[in-house]
Amino acid sequence: ARVPLIAGNWKLNLDHLQAIAFVQKLDWTLKDARHEYGISGSEVAVFPPFTDLRSVQNLVAADKLSIVFGGQDLSEHDSGAFTGEISGAFLKALDCTYVIIGHSERRTLHSETDEQLGRKVVAALKHGLVPVLCVGETAEDLEIHGPSAVPVAQLRAALAGVSGTPNLVVAYEPVWAIGSGQAATAEQAEQVAATLRATLAELLGEEVADATRILYGGSVKSTNIAGFMRQPNVDGALVGGASLDVTEFASIARFQK
Ligand code: 13P
Repeated sequence: ARVPLIAGNWKLNLDHLQAIAFVQKLDWTLKDARHEYGISGSEVAVFPPFTDLRSVQNLVAADKLSIVFGGQDLSEHDSGAFTGEISGAFLKALDCTYVIIGHSERRTLHSETDEQLGRKVVAALKHGLVPVLCVGETAEDLEIHGPSAVPVAQLRAALAGVSGTPNLVVAYEPVWAIGSGQAATAEQAEQVAATLRATLAELLGEEVADATRILYGGSVKSTNIAGFMRQPNVDGALVGGASLDVTEFASIARFQK
């Protein structure tokens, strides 16, 4: 069975000092919740800004926290004259487990293309990072192409250079649901997640399709997470705004599959 993943994408929020305070408090809150409600079966991950990662690494190692973490992006390159970039090797050296690839904000605000994202997926896997590959359609795409066409095309493009049995996470994040307060319905999320899983089976085989966690993202809160977690093909959530409030994020993380 797939272990559900509740992932907090902090985006451009919380500096390294705030990150230390936040992760400490998150750990206490999760431990309290586990004590009160029983063991939560979900893995909990945070995705802080790059400048926070060293501090989070030290805290997690020193206090043996059961919180994992990752970067919000990586370079397709390993090293060289690429001002401002961070490589997969650097993230791995900081004990990152995951790296987000292809968030809609990177696709839109930084003009990242499907081809480039494909190279980033290859770079992440090469360095032993688990890509959290984001796919999702805009409101206009939804109207023109229906619910699954764009996310499926983005998945195919991002996995073009991948073979074998990669450890992957796919996050379905409809662009219209991100930061809008207008989450997809649990049924909408399930329908696209099921189609993405079928595409994974076609591209990489049943075993990979079965093992890959597919998350829903877009206005997830403690008040709507239960519906998503009930869906057979939804294995957790990628949370933006609600991941910046410890109590709220911990409440999301305590929902069982
Ligand atoms: P919100 O949860 O703020 O809608 O953001 C979702 C997201 O983009 C996570 O990557």
